[in-house]
Amino acid sequence: MKVLVVNAGSSSIKYQLFEMPARRILAKGMIERIGQADAALVHTCSGSKHTARICAADHDAGMAVILSTLTDKKIGVLSEIGQIGAVGHRVVHGGEEFTGSVVIDAHVLDSIERFADLAPLHNPPNLTGIRAAMHSLPSAVQVACFDTAFHTTLPPAAYIYGLPFDIYEKFRVRRYGFHGTSHRYVARRCAKLMGLDKSAANIITCHLGNGCSITAVKAGKSVDTSMGMTPLEGVIMGTRCGDVDPAILFYLGDKGYDTKQLNAMCNKQSGLLGISGISNDMRNLLGRVAEGNTRAKLAVDIFCYRITKYIGAYTAVLGRVDAVVFTGGIGENNPALRAQICADQPQIGIQIDPARNDASSSDERLISAETSRVKVFVIPTDEEGAIAGDTYELAAGKSK
Ligand code: ADP
Repeated sequence: MKVLVVNAGSSSIKYQLFEMPARRILAKGMIERIGQADAALVHTCSGSKHTARICAADHDAGMAVILSTLTDKKIGVLSEIGQIGAVGHRVVHGGEEFTGSVVIDAHVLDSIERFADLAPLHNPPNLTGIRAAMHSLPSAVQVACFDTAFHTTLPPAAYIYGLPFDIYEKFRVRRYGFHGTSHRYVARRCAKLMGLDKSAANIITCHLGNGCSITAVKAGKSVDTSMGMTPLEGVIMGTRCGDVDPAILFYLGDKGYDTKQLNAMCNKQSGLLGISGISNDMRNLLGRVAEGNTRAKLAVDIFCYRITKYIGAYTAVLGRVDAVVFTGGIGENNPALRAQICADQPQIGIQIDPARNDASSSDERLISAETSRVKVFVIPTDEEGAIAGDTYELAAGKSK
């Protein structure tokens, strides 16, 4: 079965076409700047990359371009779009309702729309992508895979904030957590690499990309995670501030900042970018650190320090930690940062092996020393592959 994985943003659609159950990627790409005059397509298949200016006034038009590209005689990989048996959609917020991936029906569509209140920037474009796919591929099974689903196992002690309880009851203000598909995928791979059943392994997973989150996985289940009601909480990220004293916002409110400005400040102008005043991109920052820039160094030090702190906290939460996993663009690719994050952790049993850590590889690998009580792994994340896996299972189950 061919499974198309779709990640629709406000002005973009990313896609990957898989041959399942082999999880072989047949083609992938992205449409950018939907609704603008300079909309563009980047499409990769059989190792070659094609770019084109396109007309895509909306997501329906974008989806039509994707499908005609996939069936194009020269750069396509399908003879007809009917070969696509199922479409898996990344959906950011599934509220408290969705504990796993689901086949989309009218009720699921309603719920995703309802949870747009909790994820106003993400759920509406996700929904637009789903509707466009339902429209263009009416006979394919459509599946929603939620970023929040893996974290629905959090206990109340981890998800209830210290606010009046009726704020939770009235508005469902609580910790939801995000990046769930990535945390679930790397935790399962890690258990497998250790030869343990997923229900036997206690793992701290560190997803460090543009957005960053840390999760405590106990016996295969997420029991705490650093992102909160929104992706703003937790460690510092490219442009997000992570944990701050909420009273800072009241203080700045009294100084004349309105909620829109504070929202933009915390989400778009903080984190690595805000502290360094240089860039939200870790590679750029490290270049400036190498030149001796002290603000870039401060931003990187804070980044590492906060992660170290979460690993320590989640060690206490888990009691016994079998492994720490690094994933995401930063976690997978930067040995120096992994070493800095783990440098102060020998007392809790984390010891990096410098040669293993420095070895250049894009494979899953162990980077801790033989004597390290806690194993440390680098595991490239594969959110699309995980979505394709869930989608295939649900679609195959449906046709039985
Ligand atoms: P997203 O969260 O958007 O999926 P990625 O997981 O691709 O993003 O992570 C992007 C981040 O990874 C950027 O800050 C980028 O600079 C960083 N990154 C990629 N390669 C390296 C590297 N070799 N060293 C340090 N940071 C890196």
